[in-house]
Amino acid sequence: ATPTAVMVGTGVGASQGVLIKGGQALESAHKVNCIIFDKTGTLTVGKPVVVDTQLLKNMELREFYVLIAAIEVNSEHPLAKAIVTYAKKFVEDKENPAWPAAQDFISITGNGVKAIVQNKEIIVGNKSLMLDQNIAIPAGAEDILAQAESMAQTGILVSIDREVAGVLAISDPLKPGAQEVISILKSMKIKSIVVTGDNWGTANAIAKEVGIETVIAEAKPEDKAKKVREFQTAGYTMAMVGDGINDSPALVAADVGMAIGAGTDIAIETADIVLMKSNLEDVITAIDLSRKTFSRIR
Ligand code: ADP
Ligand code: MG
Repeated sequence: ATPTAVMVGTGVGASQGVLIKGGQALESAHKVNCIIFDKTGTLTVGKPVVVDTQLLKNMELREFYVLIAAIEVNSEHPLAKAIVTYAKKFVEDKENPAWPAAQDFISITGNGVKAIVQNKEIIVGNKSLMLDQNIAIPAGAEDILAQAESMAQTGILVSIDREVAGVLAISDPLKPGAQEVISILKSMKIKSIVVTGDNWGTANAIAKEVGIETVIAEAKPEDKAKKVREFQTAGYTMAMVGDGINDSPALVAADVGMAIGAGTDIAIETADIVLMKSNLEDVITAIDLSRKTFSRIR
């Protein structure tokens, strides 16, 4: 392609809300034959909502939610935002809820959070966090988790003073049109993969819903990048589509990193292409544009 064609290509992209950072990014996109999609905030809407709470201890729902909101208010994670939003149901001043103070707050990336609230040790997170913290998971809690995961929901465990006190089910539905995008990519001979820090049960359920066969779950940020490199070694030209801080190593590793416009600043900075409208269809727009610019016989 001539420099003029590249300029025209990036210009057309920009006018459609597909920000292509330079000629190399536009060129690489037409060779992509495998795409790894992050789950939360990329394939899904990214605005999770608490849909169910099961208490395993004799306590009030209000007391339970005030304790966990006090911790989660310190976390940037979308799941934390969902929990805090839900907890506001139980307080009078929803604009300025006065959550109790959390001491010794720590965030365990990709697993959950922990702090002391009202002299109680509260841990909120996934199964592997509980196991790491040597907290026993009762069979009842396992059942509730499995049930939530089979419905593509994320189950979150809450431990109070080292005992599992409840399980939350959080739902984050697929973006509208996600299935169609995956099926069009298939017709373009492009393989789709889903990667997530979330558990295998939820990841498999979401993948099935959207029509993706290859799933990578319980992935740390570095695992996501490692997977990109593994597929490159196997001969694929890789795109990665993501929105989170945890996606940025993979966005860098990919031949073409694509960030969701509504994503975090770090993802947007590290990506080669930014999908300003946060639409999954624009993954196809970008590849089409590249194919039109570079595959034409002159
Ligand atoms: P994803 O790759 O889907 O964006 P993350 O790697 O950010 O997921 O998180 C993985 C898992 O860690 C979540 O599904 C959840 O179980 C747990 N987790 C992370 N942060 C929190 C939090 N603030 N509160 C509760 N659970 C959390
Ligand atoms: Mg994400």
